[in-house]
Amino acid sequence: MVFDRLQSLLISSVVFPLQERLKGHSTVADRRGMEQSQWWPRDRLEALRVERLRALLGHAATHVPYYRDLFRSLGFDPRSVSAVTDLQQLPFLDKPLIRANTDALKADDARGLARFNTGGSSGVPLIFYIGNERVSRDVAAKWRATRWWGVDIGDPEIVLWGSPIELGAQDRVRRLRDGLMRTRLLPAFEMSDARVDGFIRDMRAVRPRMLFGYPSAFAHIATRARHTGVRLDDIGVRTVFVTSERLYDHQRTLIEAVFGAPVANGYGGRDAGFIAHQCPQGSMHLTAEDIIVEIVDRDGRVLPDGQSGEIVVTHLATRDYPFIRYRTGDIGTLATAACSCGRGLPVLQDIQGRSTDFIVAQDGTVMHGLALIYILRDLPGVEAFRIEQLTTDHTKVAVVCGPAYPADGDERVRQGFRARLGRTVDITVDHVDTIPAEGSGKFRYVVSRVAA
Ligand SMILES: [Zn+2]
Repeated sequence: MVFDRLQSLLISSVVFPLQERLKGHSTVADRRGMEQSQWWPRDRLEALRVERLRALLGHAATHVPYYRDLFRSLGFDPRSVSAVTDLQQLPFLDKPLIRANTDALKADDARGLARFNTGGSSGVPLIFYIGNERVSRDVAAKWRATRWWGVDIGDPEIVLWGSPIELGAQDRVRRLRDGLMRTRLLPAFEMSDARVDGFIRDMRAVRPRMLFGYPSAFAHIATRARHTGVRLDDIGVRTVFVTSERLYDHQRTLIEAVFGAPVANGYGGRDAGFIAHQCPQGSMHLTAEDIIVEIVDRDGRVLPDGQSGEIVVTHLATRDYPFIRYRTGDIGTLATAACSCGRGLPVLQDIQGRSTDFIVAQDGTVMHGLALIYILRDLPGVEAFRIEQLTTDHTKVAVVCGPAYPADGDERVRQGFRARLGRTVDITVDHVDTIPAEGSGKFRYVVSRVAA
């Protein structure tokens, strides 16, 4: 145990800072600063945000072609910004705009731009870029939040993740890093009983102090552990961090009971950044130093705190590739009251984000919906989609196709889906103009009528 703590300490204080410095990241200093500013009173935090916003917009006006043109056409002068509400003079940024201006959004002095491709919250793939500054700040924000729960970088961690690209390109460098950082990555894709039993064995062997991944995946593992009578509440898990999907109360209750540890919810995505993290008192605190959240109604009007609407995000650490008034498509409310933990970071509540269903292959294998989503995501010209599994023998896909959609696109979808679902599965591909929103299930882009 003593050795274990020493190893954690070595990683958090030596290995990780060194690695971040080599990558040109300022994560360590950023995290230290954020641990101060989280206790600041609201007006001091607000002053910091206004200053950072003015700097971001000022930089965009000179270095980012898209904003240089936009500000000129609007007659907008970033130097006049004196409050966060000045953002309302600017139009929203949404996925179609990013798609139409993918290169014009790059700053001409951008540093360390990395390309990302995400399914997005409505099943619409999106290509965008993230610079060094943003990586540092996002990692620092996540790190700060884990420390709220008594776990630190360097503590043994199991990450359950889904992207085959991220898993596939996990070259030696990444494996070395994971070894040093004591992070173990398990693929959340295939959820057959045999696979899940393997995950449970891995967890018992690794004895992770924290778990990180999709709530649906942990709930699934918890159900299996309970069913097979294997204990997971005695391996020393302190916190289960969940993200990327809507967390349901029944999932939280199940995960907490089986792992014997609290669930810490996180809200955010690759595109919009780490927007909010839950503190042990239960509030979802905004990463307010970097993230400005506006809540807007159907017509784009900004709503007062306490009212529910679409979550619009401005990320202040995005000078290399600005995200200014980005429409997330998710729904939420800014709380009117402060959290009892004493942190000045504003609280986001009633978040209704994406949810992903499990799908079931012909042979009974249960898979995360991402297994199918990535097949569409990797196909050019797919602007939006919705997958509906009707039975284990029949799955329907509705696709909104752009000009880049290949002639053999439908065939590739059928092949990819059959490889996962079963060779004789009937796959119907429909080309549609739009994907209609559902009532409460607005953000479900994988729907399964088959009980997992
Ligand atoms: Zn709190």
